[in-house]
This record gives sequence, structure tokens and C-alpha cells, in this order.
Amino acid sequence: MPGTELFGDEERKEVMDVLNTTCLFRYNHEELRQGMWKARELEAEVARYTGAKYAHAVSSGSAAVACTLAAAGIGHGDEVIVPPFTFMATIEAVLYAGALPVFAEIDETLCLSAEGIRQAATEKTKAVLLVHMCGAAADMEGIQEVCVEKNLVLIEDAGQALGAFYKGKSVGLFGACGAFSFDFFKITTAGEGGLFITNDEATYKKADTFSDHGHSHVGDNRGMEPHPYLGFNYRISELNAAVGLAQMRKIKLLVAGKRKNKAIIKDKLQGIDGVTFRHLPDAEGDSGTFLNFFLPTTELAQQAVAKLADAGVGGINYWYTNMYHFINQWDHVKKLSSAAPLAIHHLGAPQDYQHLELPKSQAVVGRLLSLGIRATWTDTEAGQIGEAIANVLREVLG
Ligand SMILES: *Cc1c(COP(=O)(O)O)cnc(C)c1O
Repeated sequence: MPGTELFGDEERKEVMDVLNTTCLFRYNHEELRQGMWKARELEAEVARYTGAKYAHAVSSGSAAVACTLAAAGIGHGDEVIVPPFTFMATIEAVLYAGALPVFAEIDETLCLSAEGIRQAATEKTKAVLLVHMCGAAADMEGIQEVCVEKNLVLIEDAGQALGAFYKGKSVGLFGACGAFSFDFFKITTAGEGGLFITNDEATYKKADTFSDHGHSHVGDNRGMEPHPYLGFNYRISELNAAVGLAQMRKIKLLVAGKRKNKAIIKDKLQGIDGVTFRHLPDAEGDSGTFLNFFLPTTELAQQAVAKLADAGVGGINYWYTNMYHFINQWDHVKKLSSAAPLAIHHLGAPQDYQHLELPKSQAVVGRLLSLGIRATWTDTEAGQIGEAIANVLREVLG
């Protein structure tokens, strides 16, 4: 993060291609498009990069998560295990599917732990919506094992993790279906956009159909084909897809730059007594978008954040107090405030969200500092940032 780090003529060219055809719609109108199919090209690019058999672009990452849930058959009254540390879209997607979120513990991977899932799973649990937080994969071996053991469908919200791999396999390919986001803050952006991937043809067809009002997209004439299911409008426009396409062509550069700069900064923090790092189940597959580290206590983490701000070190997030990503900040979830009634209002929540105790997650997030890494920093700049952070941490921990 953030998107648009490498942005310029390539994106402009792709967008102008679309504007020049006057065809902004991803389906039909072959006579206008002069051979331009930007959404399809974006899908091919992501499929190539991730190794997925099927990729389908949609209007947002949130839409992509909704499509993965629909394709996995998650609906009314189904209990779905989710993490308490994620972007809100994960929880909303479950609620708007008519399903019921069950919060389980994360660990120092910053993702749901196999143990957390095992403890939260009941007879009623149907699926796990796993979130790969902050650009790196969860503990996939442990999690796949518990999903088999408990007969749970695994779905991946990889909204923050395009570019992350686990033992050579892209996130999003470990379960039934996986979702990515191209919103403004993600490693590559489309302005707004998202995409799902899967290796399973039937799942792909369901999700594809769901993303466009139930059109099956069989044959070349959308509108004349059968409509096997209901769906909704989650289509991406050709304009957004064009930006996403140009961005996707840069992802290897972005990942390489971020990994390089992350290593430089991490090196400066190594050996400071009291600093420990996020556990990465596969460090080789890290996309490098964030450096996450822990201080010994919440109090020390808070002190460090204040001092880092005084020292003018930008870009450090203290997730627990300042950000929108932990359940403590989610009064609207805890109270289930919604503009219109949700299934959960009628069925009842599977947990008492207002008084939920998640001590392990609390201990992890309360001590967590997180630095967004840019690919475009020079080695010198990254070194200076690392040095400045190290100085503050030594002072706080000394
Ligand atoms: C960003 C994000 C989303 C939603 O993506 P949008 O494109 O903003 O709708 C979903 N899940 C996670 C984990 C995210 O970080």
C-alpha cells in the first residue's frame, strides 16, 4: 500500500484506449471496441500472476468477497468464522449474505489461527472467511487442516494481499474462492475494483453469474443466454479495468521494491531489546507492503506512537487506537446497527458481540505497530526511516 505509487503514462494510455472506443461496458458491443477488452485482459494478467485457472474482475473488493460467499453457497443463517482484525468489508459481506459472523482469535501472524478456528467452530459453523492481513499469508497448513477436520468451507478475503504467496502458491487459491481489492489503498489500484480467483470451474461460474444479475455469460451475446441464478450488479467498468490492467503489469516491480525496502528497515530494528516481529508463516512469499512489529506492552506501544509522531516519522499506524480495523472500534457491529433489518436481527447473533472477549487478539493488536512500505523509496531513504524509528524505539524501550 498505497496504490498509485507507480502511476503515469501506462495508466493514461489504457484509459484513453477505452475512451476512444466509447465502449465503457465490459460485455458485448464488439462493433465499437476495436478489439479492446480491458476487464478480460486484467483477468488474464491476474490469472497469469497468481497461477489461478479462473479470474473475474468486479466493481470492488467488497463485491468480490460477496461473490466468493455466494459461490460457496453461504447464505441465510449460516455461521461463518471471521477475524476481529480486518477491514469492515469482511464482516459486512457475511451479514449482507444473510449469514452470521462468529469471531475467532488471531495470533502473531495477524490472521486467524488454526487454534482460534478450532475453538470457535461448532456444529453450526459452515465456513471460515480467512483474511490475509497486511500483505502476507496466514498459516495455511494449520488452517487447511482444521477446515478439513471440522468440515468447513474455506474462503479467502485476500483484499490486502495481492502479491502474497504461501510456499509458492498465491493467496486466494487455498480454499473455494479468494477475493482481491483494487481500491485506492491497495498495492495496485483500479480507482475502485476487485477480483476473485479460483481453480474450480463450477465455483467460478457461480461467482461470475452472481456478479452480473445471473447472466451465465455462455456464448458471446450477453442478454440472450440463460440465467441460472439470481445475482446482482457487481460489474467493473472498462475504465476501472483499464487502470487496473496497467497497474497489474507493475506488480512484480512493486513487490520487489517493497520487499527490498522492508528488509532495509527491518534490519535497523533487529536486535532492539523488546521489539519482536510479526510471525510470517512464509517470509519468502511476503508482498512486503507492511512492516509489522510488536512492543512488549500496549502502554509502550502507545508511548512509541506518540514519540514517533513527535520525531516526525510518518506512516506508522497504531492499529488498536487509531485505526478502524479492530473489533473494539466497531460499535456498529457490536450493536448490529443497520439501515434495514438483517437476517441476524431475526435469527439472533451466535455470540454476544457487545461483550465479546478476545484476549489473544487484544494482546496482539494492542502491541502492534505497522509501517506501510513504499516501493519507490531509495535505499538511503529506507535506511533513514529505519534509523529514525530505531532511535525512538531505543528511547522508549531503553
Ligand atoms: C480493502 C479490503 C476489502 C474491500 O475492498 P474494497 O475494494 O475497498 O471494497 C475487503 N477486505 C479486506 C481485508 C480489505 O482490506
